This record gives sequence, structure tokens and C-alpha cells, in this order.
Amino acid sequence: MPDGGVDFRHNCASPTSSSIASKQHSVQQQLIWEELAMESELVLHEGGCHCGKIKWRVKASRRVVAWSCNCTDCSMRGNVNFVVPASDFELLDDSKDFITTYTFGTHTAKHTFCKVCGITSFYIPRSNPDGVSVTVKCVKAGTLEHVEIRSYDGVNWERSHKETGIASSSKEAN
Ligand SMILES: [Zn+2]
Repeated sequence: MPDGGVDFRHNCASPTSSSIASKQHSVQQQLIWEELAMESELVLHEGGCHCGKIKWRVKASRRVVAWSCNCTDCSMRGNVNFVVPASDFELLDDSKDFITTYTFGTHTAKHTFCKVCGITSFYIPRSNPDGVSVTVKCVKAGTLEHVEIRSYDGVNWERSHKETGIASSSKEAN
């Protein structure tokens, strides 16, 4: 074809077949959109400690990415948690009265636990001081559909903090 020519060949398909194709395309797109919407949809999860003095609710997807960390503290208590922005976490009733806090090392993380039963159902992690870590096993059954567990190398904390991009998980979505 000479320079500057326009190729009209793509118009050769019959109108019928192209409209069927575009319909199939839009149905497929619709399904993808619905799937994405379901995954990104935030629901309220409820949970708390063992004795029930500490109760909270947290806004998060039904499908979460949780972290299994090998630092000295997390490995002792088998901690697997997911991180949310602080604004998506709410303590209920008089839960505050039953919280006590342990810190160590850099003292950035606030390891909150129940004064009565000792369970850490949530805490403020060093990786996300502007967020909240929720203990997966302290979420009441029924609202979490899928938990993808990733490893956080707390022994090599700085490197893992950079590589995992975990810091972004406590930022509020726009
Ligand atoms: Zn308790």
C-alpha cells in the first residue's frame, strides 16, 4: 500500500459477526469487572480476644493477604496478621479499658494484648505505625473467604520491609 493510504480491510467483516463478537467481549468484560468488584469490596469483619473483653470491627476485603513473620515476637506466638489503615479499625464498647501494651527493640510496634486473657487480637505493627495489624485467627468465622499467607522476613526486617511493599497496606484507598 502506498504511503499515506488508509487500510479499510478491517471493515470487511459482516456487521452480524462483529456485533456478536463485541457482545461476547462485553459479557467477558462484565464478568471481569464483577470479579474485581467482589475482590475489592470492603466488608465489616468482627473479632476480638479470647475472653471477649476486647471487641472490634475492621473494614477489609473478604480476601486478604496476611503475613507470617519470623521475628522473635511473631514466631513465639505464631502470629499471622493482615494490615489495614487505622481508620478502618474500630474498637467497640469499653475494649480500651482492657488493653495493655508491650514494646521492645525499636519500641515502634505496640504489642497490645488483653489484660484478662492475654490474647493479642490486634496491634500496631512496626511495618505500619499508621495502621493496625489484625490477627487472622481472632476474626470471627463467616466473613473472611480467603487468606493468602505471605512470609515476612522479620529477621532481615529492613530488607523485607522494602521488598514486600507492606508499608502501602495501611494507606487509605482514594
Ligand atoms: Zn481477653
